[in-house]
Amino acid sequence: MAEIIDGRAIARQLDEKTRSEVDALVRDGYPAPGLTVILVGNDPASEVYVRRKIKACELVGIASTEHRLPADTSQEDLLALIDKLNNDNSVHGILCQVPLPDHIDTRRVLRSIAPEKDVDGFHPVNVGRLSTGSGGIVPCTPLGVMKLINSVIPDLTGKNVVVIGKSNIVGKPVANLLLDAEATVTVTHIYTAGLPEICRQADVIVAAAGAPELVRGHWVKDGAVLIDVGITRQETQEGKTKLVGDIKFDEVQHAAAVTPVPGGVGPMTIACLLANTVQAARTSMVGNGSSDSDYADARSRSMFIGLGPNPK
Ligand code: NAD
Repeated sequence: MAEIIDGRAIARQLDEKTRSEVDALVRDGYPAPGLTVILVGNDPASEVYVRRKIKACELVGIASTEHRLPADTSQEDLLALIDKLNNDNSVHGILCQVPLPDHIDTRRVLRSIAPEKDVDGFHPVNVGRLSTGSGGIVPCTPLGVMKLINSVIPDLTGKNVVVIGKSNIVGKPVANLLLDAEATVTVTHIYTAGLPEICRQADVIVAAAGAPELVRGHWVKDGAVLIDVGITRQETQEGKTKLVGDIKFDEVQHAAAVTPVPGGVGPMTIACLLANTVQAARTSMVGNGSSDSDYADARSRSMFIGLGPNPK
C-alpha cells in the first residue's frame, strides 16, 4: 500500500512555524504582519478561497484586511487601490484573487503589485528571481509541492522527476524549484508524445494538468512518489459533486507515496501563503532592502520554509 502524504498535517506543522515567527516579530516590538486580499465580483469559488485565506490568517496571528469590490469596478480604480496598498506600510502582502472580470487586464493588475508585497509570487520580478535561483517570493502551490516531496524524499539530488503541465503558476515554477534541488526534470504538457513511457521512468511525478485521473497505474513505476496538484469538480451519480485529482488513486498502490485529493496539495497552498506573508513582513520591517540583504533574506527564508539553506 502506498503511503498517503497527509497535506493537512504538514500544512499544520508549517502553520505552527509561521505562528511562532509572527509571535517572535510581535515580541520584538513589530506590528503583526498584514495581508490584504482583494476580491472583485462574486465568483462563488473565489469567495470560498478568500474566506479560507482570511480564516487561516486569523489562526496564525496575521492581520488580514479584505477589499470587496463590485464586478463592474474599473481597471483604473483597481490599479489605484493597489497603488495605495503598495504605499501603505502596514500592508506587507497583497493578494488579488483571480479570476478577475473580463474587462480587467489580469496580467497588468498582477504586475502592479509591488514585488516585495506579491505574496503569490506571480510578479515577473519574483518569477525572474526564482528562475535564476536568487530568492524572491516563491509561488504558494509550487512551494507546497516541494514541501510535500521533501517530506518523503529530503534529498532530490539526481532524482528523475516528471512534471505534467507547464503553466506559469504551477508547472514552470515547480520545475525551477526541482532544478534548484538538483533533480533531473522533464516538463511535459498536452502535446507531449509518449507521456505514459516518460512517466514510467520517474522517481517522482508531479501531476498538474487539470485532467481528471490522467495518470494511470501502468504509468507509475514501483516505489515512485506521486504529487497530485490537479483539482476537478465532478458530479457523482447521486447528483452531488466531488473533487477529483489528476492521478487515478486506486490504481497507484504500488507507488511509495501519494498525495490525496482533497487533503494533499490544497492545504499546503494556503499554509505557504501565510509563510510568504510573514516573510514579506519580516523583509520589510527587519531587512534593509538592498539586493544583498534580499538574497540573505531569501536564504534564511528558504531555511524557514524548509527548502534547505542554499537556493542554488
Ligand atoms: P493550466 O490549465 O494553466 O495548465 C495545465 C497544463 O497541463 C498545461 O501546460 C497543459 O498543456 C497541461 N495538460 C493539460 N491536459 C493535459 C494532458 N491530458 N496531458 C498532458 N498535459 C496536459 O492549469 P494550472 O493552473 O496549472 O492548474 C493545473 C491543475 O492544478 C488544475 O486542476 C488546478 O485546479 C490545479 N491547481 C491546484 C492548486 C491547489 O492549491 N491544489 C493550485 C493551482 C492549481
